[in-house]
Amino acid sequence: MKIKLLCFSLAVLFANSVSAQKTVKSNKTATPSYPQTIARPKLVVGMVVDQMRWDYLYRFYSRYGQGGFKRLINEGFSAENTLIPYTPTLTACGHSSVYTGSVPAINGIIGNNWFDPQLGRDVYCVEDKSVSTVGSTSKAGLMSPKNLLVTTVTDELRMASNFRSKVISVSLKDRGAILPGGHTANGSYWYDGATGNFITSTHYMQQLPAWVNDFNAKKLPNKYFSEDWNTLYPIATYTESTADDKPYERLFKDEKTATFPHLFKQYANKNYSLMTSMPQGNTFTLEFAKAAIPAEKLGQSGNTDFLAVSLSSTDYVGHQFGPNSIELEDTYLRLDKDLEDFFGYLDKTIGKGNYLFFLTADHGVTHVPGFSKENKLPSGGLATKKYKTELDSLILKEFKVKDAIFTLINNQLIFDTDAIKDAKADYSKIKQFSIDYLVKQEGVLNAVDIKNIGNASLSQDLKMKITNGYNARRSGDVYIILDAGWYPSLSPGTGHAAWNPYDSHIPNVFMGWGVKPGKTNKEYYMTDIAPTVSALLHIQQPSGSIGKVITELIK
Ligand code: ZN
Ligand code: ZN
Repeated sequence: MKIKLLCFSLAVLFANSVSAQKTVKSNKTATPSYPQTIARPKLVVGMVVDQMRWDYLYRFYSRYGQGGFKRLINEGFSAENTLIPYTPTLTACGHSSVYTGSVPAINGIIGNNWFDPQLGRDVYCVEDKSVSTVGSTSKAGLMSPKNLLVTTVTDELRMASNFRSKVISVSLKDRGAILPGGHTANGSYWYDGATGNFITSTHYMQQLPAWVNDFNAKKLPNKYFSEDWNTLYPIATYTESTADDKPYERLFKDEKTATFPHLFKQYANKNYSLMTSMPQGNTFTLEFAKAAIPAEKLGQSGNTDFLAVSLSSTDYVGHQFGPNSIELEDTYLRLDKDLEDFFGYLDKTIGKGNYLFFLTADHGVTHVPGFSKENKLPSGGLATKKYKTELDSLILKEFKVKDAIFTLINNQLIFDTDAIKDAKADYSKIKQFSIDYLVKQEGVLNAVDIKNIGNASLSQDLKMKITNGYNARRSGDVYIILDAGWYPSLSPGTGHAAWNPYDSHIPNVFMGWGVKPGKTNKEYYMTDIAPTVSALLHIQQPSGSIGKVITELIK
């Protein structure tokens, strides 16, 4: 028995040593072909252009220069049919979805504001009263990402590198900087309209870095305010837009007509908050982003860093003048020049091919109802707030419940279920009564019980979008869907929040490191951006990600 065992052991030993020799031999030839480390870009630059509809890539294409949008489209990979898979399509939701690969139902950011029944008030998406402003005495810094319930791709990059990768985010809007930067950003910076400076909060740091103080000390807003807003090219060449003087455009303060030139000089040193409504607001943000690169040594450590830039002026201009205005066309022609400059700067500092760049938007925009009416297109403005007032009095009459509705926000009615219970009334009946009332109103396509959406007579696509926008703790009871082209306001200007393509079809273009140039018309979603970045970087997807990797764009 012992001998048998010994023989067996010797045989095994011999076999092992033979295979070990074989391994050594084959390793000798194979070793050089395996890279020692995973290849990653030096820097990722994510850019969200606030309110940029997909069609702007092409509507102004013939007027773009070689180095901006044209370079992006031709050198990059464009997922042409990228949609937002939820509604309402608002800024905070868009920024969260791009960077988390998730939807409001999961990431919790269901609007710029939402109603909190416990607090009895609206909550702002990035408000945080437990932190302090850094860089100003204003309250503009009482902000953090604490309401975001999941991680971002930027958080995942930080964790994947054991926090050696740096993440810097910037935007004129606080939410445009904070949500992309995630919970663990090294610095998220946004604009303080009171001082004209970039600021942050104690969530990130106790004091501004020296380079941010130096940047603020340049007082660049004064430079931008030193000129009135005239068109970049002769105004007669703006043939993609309607005439300049339209009554449905919103005026700047002190203006009699919404026409060029818009007199900005008068606001120098006085009204820094107007910076957001000037095309130079984008230039200013990109100057800050450029300054961050050498100051933070981005792309130099051997770990992949991330610079998240969100350009907000496009949104303010779009709201005020609409997507068919000369002001909007001019803003994109200027942005194209800024992009060319920015790409040139990245080529110079990080090196062409060493950075991964993507550009997308947080949402699109509805045509100004006045413009649509003028051109015989289906459209209208609605004072939806009046529905709350009317319904309140009808419910009081019918069910004897006072103030049964807390509020109407994010296209949703929110009932005060305690008030209904106290009045011993039937919540389901009141809800159905409200739906029956709403569907009779002009401009309302449908109104549905969100918590029972499965039984609603709606297309699957709409059910999916409403469900993805519904968070059990933060959302309302009845969702109001407007007719296409309708906007819930009677004031001049326009907005966005709808499920329709004009609000939900966004650009999605990747360029640079690891990206195979090309184009697809396959349907993709905003939620696919973060998992695609994760795949390119070989890092974990964000914790609430439901997106899919856009495999066609990976080299
Ligand atoms: Zn926005
Ligand atoms: Zn907006």
